[in-house]
Amino acid sequence: MRAVVSHGKKDFRIESRADPRPGTGEVLVRPLFNGLCFTDKHLFDGHVERAADIVIGHEFSAEIVALGDRVDDWRPGDHVSVDPRIRCGTCLACRAGLETLCPDGGFLGVRGADGGLADLCVAPAYGLYRLPEAVSPLQAACVEAACCATRALRSGAIVPGDNVVLLGLDDYNLFVAQWLKAQGGLVIGVDGASVRREAARGFGAATCLDPSSDNIVRAVRAAMPFGADVVVVALEDYAPAATDYLALAHRLARIQGTVILIRAYGAEPFARIQPSTAWLKELTIRHFGNFFGNEPARGGRDRGDWQVTLDAIGRGILAAPPPQTELVPFSALKTAGDIGALFDGLPGSAAKIVVDMAD
Ligand SMILES: [Zn+2]
Ligand SMILES: [Zn+2]
Repeated sequence: MRAVVSHGKKDFRIESRADPRPGTGEVLVRPLFNGLCFTDKHLFDGHVERAADIVIGHEFSAEIVALGDRVDDWRPGDHVSVDPRIRCGTCLACRAGLETLCPDGGFLGVRGADGGLADLCVAPAYGLYRLPEAVSPLQAACVEAACCATRALRSGAIVPGDNVVLLGLDDYNLFVAQWLKAQGGLVIGVDGASVRREAARGFGAATCLDPSSDNIVRAVRAAMPFGADVVVVALEDYAPAATDYLALAHRLARIQGTVILIRAYGAEPFARIQPSTAWLKELTIRHFGNFFGNEPARGGRDRGDWQVTLDAIGRGILAAPPPQTELVPFSALKTAGDIGALFDGLPGSAAKIVVDMAD
């Protein structure tokens, strides 16, 4: 099979690999669409610790090809959305429905197991979700990124009518913008890439600012005189302005406001915070490193963040992928140079890249 394999910083190659076989509790799937996450961009740029020689791709929809032992609920030919998390199933985090925090866990395509940017992939059956009638395989490839936004909203950290600033319009924050669209709040987006600002405007952001040319503090104060109720921050090492986003968020938040870290990489953004600001303004700082949950008290998997996100896509609340998405045929990725060019173009080239595995 063909597979896109990470060999290290700026070194993703397309290779021929032996077809994998499903073990007990696993299924063999043929990926249909793969979203390239901005986490993959971090992997490519060497900002995230990675497993050596791993097949990348953790945002994908797929068709089931074969079942391993002890898999009863699925049939070959079923279309699925794949939650890429690997869990132990018995630790405190897993029992609490917080599998991302499992100390023995992993993530298909990031660490612990190969991902979906290949002709075939093995996935644990517990991570499979049936597609609602209204959700296409293309849409289902975008659930993972959308889920991070769903979790931030479901946490209650943002309530209807809030004045919200989105610092960094990555895939996560573009889905936050979509959730907020129906809530009647005032949204200001900030990003250096015009394609992302265009996407956020399409999702209802009242104003979109470019940190390289706009005075962000002055513009936010003009619209939100006492500051933002909530600032949602996406830290991206490859976006130079993002180094200042966290310190900026502390300035932009109103007294007793909330700063949400929805994506966090690197140390420098944290070094730039004026530590007393959060104390003097009584800010609440929230982190969403548990990207999505299935808490039993909320209904477990059937009402978990993944299922809620799938349903929201099916009901048209979330547009997945955003219109400013570049759809790339898998057959166009012939060399490491083809793959490198895709990642080097981000974030300026497209709000999202999705690979069509059948093309
Ligand atoms: Zn992702
Ligand atoms: Zn566990």
